[in-house]
Amino acid sequence: MSYEGKMLERFNMPTRFKVERALLQTLLKHGGVTKEFGSGQEIVDEIADHFELNEDQRSASLKTIYRKENRVKQSLLWHRLLFRAADSLAKQQLVSRPKQTLKLTKKREWMLTEKGFDKALRISNIPNDTKEFLPTKSYEVQKIVKKLTESHRPENYDPFDRKKKLLKKTKESIIRVRGFRQAIIDAYNYKCAICEMKIYSPDSLLWEVEAAHIVPHSFLGRDDIWNGLALCHLHHWAFDVGWLTLQDDYTICVSSKIHSLPPDFGRFGDYEFIRAISRKRRRIFLPGRIELHPHHNSIRWHRQNVFHQ
Ligand SMILES: [Zn+2]
Repeated sequence: MSYEGKMLERFNMPTRFKVERALLQTLLKHGGVTKEFGSGQEIVDEIADHFELNEDQRSASLKTIYRKENRVKQSLLWHRLLFRAADSLAKQQLVSRPKQTLKLTKKREWMLTEKGFDKALRISNIPNDTKEFLPTKSYEVQKIVKKLTESHRPENYDPFDRKKKLLKKTKESIIRVRGFRQAIIDAYNYKCAICEMKIYSPDSLLWEVEAAHIVPHSFLGRDDIWNGLALCHLHHWAFDVGWLTLQDDYTICVSSKIHSLPPDFGRFGDYEFIRAISRKRRRIFLPGRIELHPHHNSIRWHRQNVFHQ
């Protein structure tokens, strides 16, 4: 048995297979990514807590002797075991390696792949159809996000995808929609562009904010950053039914029909989710980079075809 094998046995460490499963579940909890393992990292301690490792198990170290350089390198047995588990997951194509992820996100991280995401959901007993709503990163979806946020903004943008298939949901179209959602909510910093509301579920897995199409999917609107807005549920609804629209300078416009609405409509307590906006002319909250702002061609179409003057 190898020196490392003997040490694992001596300290009664969990098996690599068990660590692999725990790692997949923890990745899911942490949005699909974790930094390379180093000491004092949240995820490293979290998995150690999951296995109820004692102090000896956490601090046991391996000594590697480099004869040529005449030095001894010490590394923590627990970190080594985590690395072995992650390496094995990468061989099974369930996670991407830090050097692969670096090219995509400029960060050295282990990231779930779609296959790894599916497996993580399965072992966490979460139904696969919730995948669409989870903001969990996966290697394939991040590739789309990179494409959406780095492509050149066209001067004369066509917000319609005439080849778009409305009814057929393919694996590819589902990944594209998730990429669109991720790119939009990231760009808007998880806030509603209209009221700037920002909140997630108690387990921090689900964000309330939604990625809205400006030219809707049902009108063949493209899944592009220039045809999207991050909106809370209420403002998403109000935007889709034509209570709200935007001017070319991104100020919010409210339908004049608001004045004929009974006073108890559209309010909870003192907060009036449409009237509050109509009182002051102001711009929506926009992403920092101008290239990511909604395109005028999408906004104009919405103003002319969805908005009720
Ligand atoms: Zn809102």
